[in-house]
Amino acid sequence: MVIIMKVGAPEGDVQAVLRQVEETGFRPFINPGVERKVIAVLGEVNINKFELVDVFSNLKGVERVDLISDPFKLSSRQYHPENLVVRVGNVAIGGDALVVMAGPCSVESHEQISRAAEDIKAAGAHMLRGGAFKPRSSPHSFQGLGEEGLRLLRDAGRQVGLPVVTEVLDTHDVDLVCRYADMLQIGARNMQNFALLRRVGESGHPVLLKRGPGSKIKDLLMAAEYVMVEGNEKVVLCERGITTFEDAARYTTDINAVPILKEMSHLPVILDPSHSTGDWRYVTAIARAGVAAGADGLIIEVHPDPQQARSDGKQSLKPARFAHLVQEVARIATAMDRSLQPTATPA
Ligand code: PEP
Ligand code: MN
Repeated sequence: MVIIMKVGAPEGDVQAVLRQVEETGFRPFINPGVERKVIAVLGEVNINKFELVDVFSNLKGVERVDLISDPFKLSSRQYHPENLVVRVGNVAIGGDALVVMAGPCSVESHEQISRAAEDIKAAGAHMLRGGAFKPRSSPHSFQGLGEEGLRLLRDAGRQVGLPVVTEVLDTHDVDLVCRYADMLQIGARNMQNFALLRRVGESGHPVLLKRGPGSKIKDLLMAAEYVMVEGNEKVVLCERGITTFEDAARYTTDINAVPILKEMSHLPVILDPSHSTGDWRYVTAIARAGVAAGADGLIIEVHPDPQQARSDGKQSLKPARFAHLVQEVARIATAMDRSLQPTATPA
């Protein structure tokens, strides 16, 4: 349930409501910084919920109490009606201006990641991606360079003045990855690794949360809830394709998810057309579709030499093609009264 305070309710009234929520055995979360404060009441609400609604409704300064029937609360737009903007370094994700993250699937070498960083920066990207811990289907495939990969990624990002995002696979590596990365990626395969979600929640670091290929939209929001309940609201959602009967592409891009997530949640939503199509030939078309559908940004795999890539080469764009993609999506953003964020300047 959420308690909606009256516009301009005095701080004393808000504090009294928070106290009452705690005394009743629940955990209050407040959405501050808005004219009308909203308090989420978290915990297991049992049969006496209507009695509770009555109690809270009659407190001073309360406008009304709404029941949220969905199991996700903190990630719900009912709790946080205005869009959330997640800041990563000098980049703001979730505002009017769109964000493009790009880079190779895996960090492979100093030369590879530095070249990729320069190429994507020149093309107009705002953040650099690259995996150092890779979740591969086969244990015999390249698993990433680990800490060395993190260091190379961070240095390449610094060199061009772009914040970096990289995947963390294991709870034990969260502190390590936080030391190098500006944003933590939770991969599709780990979307319901609840221990990992809680741990990245505790870290307070911005999180890029990818949807599992077999997960429903509401499960993605519940996964976000696991991060947020630890006090970390800096979550960006990512649609990256789901499993369907169709096998002409690697996955099926669930374009529906973009407007549906924007409706259900205040969290920023970005699209990953590289993993959803699995084929560089379709990436640009689906990137355009994502922006037209209202995505707040894109994450695109770009490799200086895709044929030599140690992972996901087939879906990686060459830098020139990526530059073209950025120009096309910028035009679509303009048509929708949005824009691409200005390119970040070196810190
Ligand atoms: C990746 O970003 O390289 C990746 C492994 O993505 P996903 O978790 O969506 O498969
Ligand atoms: Mn990849």
